[in-house]
Amino acid sequence: MKRKRLLWQLVPTYLAITLGALLLVGWLAAITVHRFYLSQTEADLEVIARLVRQQIKGRFTVDGKSSLDSLSKALRRTSSTRITFINSIGDVLGDSDKDPAEMENHSDRPEFKDAIAGRTGVSIRYSTTLKKRMMYLAIPVESDVGEPVGLVRVSIPLTTIKDALAQVYSGIALGGLLALVLAALFSYIVSRRISNPLVAMKEGAQRFAAGELSHRLTAQRVEELHELATALNKMAVDLDDRIGTIMKQHRELEAVLSSMVEGVLAVDMNERLLKANRSAEELLGIDSVEWQGRSLTEVIKNPDLQWFVSDVLRTRRKMESEIVLGGDQFLQVHGTLLHDAEEREIGALIVMNDITRLRKLENIRRDFAANVSHELRTPITSIKGFVETLQDGAIEDPQSATRFLDIIVKHTDRLNAIIEDLLSLARIEQDAESDRIELENDSVMEVVTTAVRLCEQRASENEIAIEVNCPEDVLTNIAAPLLERAMVNLLDNAINFSEPGGTVQVDVEKRSSEVIVAVKDSGCGIAAEHIPRLFERFYRVDPDRSRKLGGTGLGLAIVKHIAIAHNGRVSVDSQPGQGSTFRIHLPI
Ligand code: ADP
Repeated sequence: MKRKRLLWQLVPTYLAITLGALLLVGWLAAITVHRFYLSQTEADLEVIARLVRQQIKGRFTVDGKSSLDSLSKALRRTSSTRITFINSIGDVLGDSDKDPAEMENHSDRPEFKDAIAGRTGVSIRYSTTLKKRMMYLAIPVESDVGEPVGLVRVSIPLTTIKDALAQVYSGIALGGLLALVLAALFSYIVSRRISNPLVAMKEGAQRFAAGELSHRLTAQRVEELHELATALNKMAVDLDDRIGTIMKQHRELEAVLSSMVEGVLAVDMNERLLKANRSAEELLGIDSVEWQGRSLTEVIKNPDLQWFVSDVLRTRRKMESEIVLGGDQFLQVHGTLLHDAEEREIGALIVMNDITRLRKLENIRRDFAANVSHELRTPITSIKGFVETLQDGAIEDPQSATRFLDIIVKHTDRLNAIIEDLLSLARIEQDAESDRIELENDSVMEVVTTAVRLCEQRASENEIAIEVNCPEDVLTNIAAPLLERAMVNLLDNAINFSEPGGTVQVDVEKRSSEVIVAVKDSGCGIAAEHIPRLFERFYRVDPDRSRKLGGTGLGLAIVKHIAIAHNGRVSVDSQPGQGSTFRIHLPI
């Protein structure tokens, strides 16, 4: 629908009303003037007729015919009216404009009939004699005894009245036109006065709608509009308040959601994503722009999670499950239905906990328990076997008994070594966790020297030379006995995995933020695939060789935890056949 401005609805309405009123008044005025004119003319004609009748009294005889005619023609020269004398039977005795001989009998004329009956006769009609519309007025002429002997008729052409009326009408029309122009101007001004405040109100309301709620509508002179402006202003204040509160709550909710460690996802009943907090985005690897309003199946490619959400929506129950993401990430998911303020079900809420670390720790613990059992079972089985052999009679044979007892002692030593290392490892971990390890600013050189001295004998037995390259002034925060133990473990390995004639080099280097202690050998080296797991408990590249060499598989794990206890770390560079370099990085 085409809508018009209020101004252009008011102005034409006012104009139509004014025009209607003007036409009505004009029409009434025209009729009144017309009537007044006719009655005025009628009265004038009657005065003339009476004056003429005064003059012709007693002349209505047969002989008087010619004198009446000449009188009528004489009167015509001083008057604008036509004058006719008619006798009682309708014959024209004299006429100011025509020859009576040429004129027909007038007894049928309406004014004749009225006048002969003693009344004033008036008629407006077309004159066949003069070929014009005329107003006729006739009055009776009576004899001395009161008998009607004829009549005097005066008449005037209506064109004269028409001309006079035309002037009056044009005056009325001109006045009406002027009134109309004035009314148009006036109605425009009035309409503007009505519509302007409404336009201001409309613009104010539009600014409110556009969110400019601090805007205020100005006071109005018209009471109703003033009340409307006040109500709109109040509405804006209330709205501003409410929006402020909602925004505050929204920000608080956003802050809570985004600082949650748990991932939170909200979906509607059609599995369209309504919300995902930062943790959920990070866990699922989705972009904040990407998920808005899209369906879960489009955004999250994990079928387990999709099924889980579908199940929650389908069963309408709280659910809990575990989901694996990308093969190595474990999520514990809780799902529940989402309700709105009217308790209507509007979707589902999924809370996700990353339990990957927990799972890994569980796995490590499980593997560790299995490894410990395995490591301990081998010597125990051997010990048990040899004890049973002895019990079965081998004890009688001193030579075998001695050999078996030696083997039992060897396995017992091995058990002891494993338990020793396990206990050391547990103690280092515990002390580190409870901050019980005291670090002192000590010389690294001293620690290295002591460790090398402890390993020298084994090195020379294996024909391995040890070279130390350490500046004397390197001081850093260390727990000397622990660092010494780590160095011994690294040197032991370097000696064990080097060929006779090889060299083990110990380098201490001070950098801007750390001191690096490196143990470098020229031994067999380690293949790349083993390097990430080298520092795990009981991990060995070649378990048999390690066992033969008396290794427990815990040496490097101890080194790693000692480095951690120093707030440092370990690293390794190695290539098969090219030797290895193990480093302990100690922060300064
Ligand atoms: P182990 O008691 O067996 O030496 P570690 O934890 O000290 O246990 O070492 C784990 C494994 O790492 C060893 O079994 C060995 O395979 C490998 N390894 C450690 N140091 C070296 C080295 N310097 N050269 C080659 N392999 C090494």
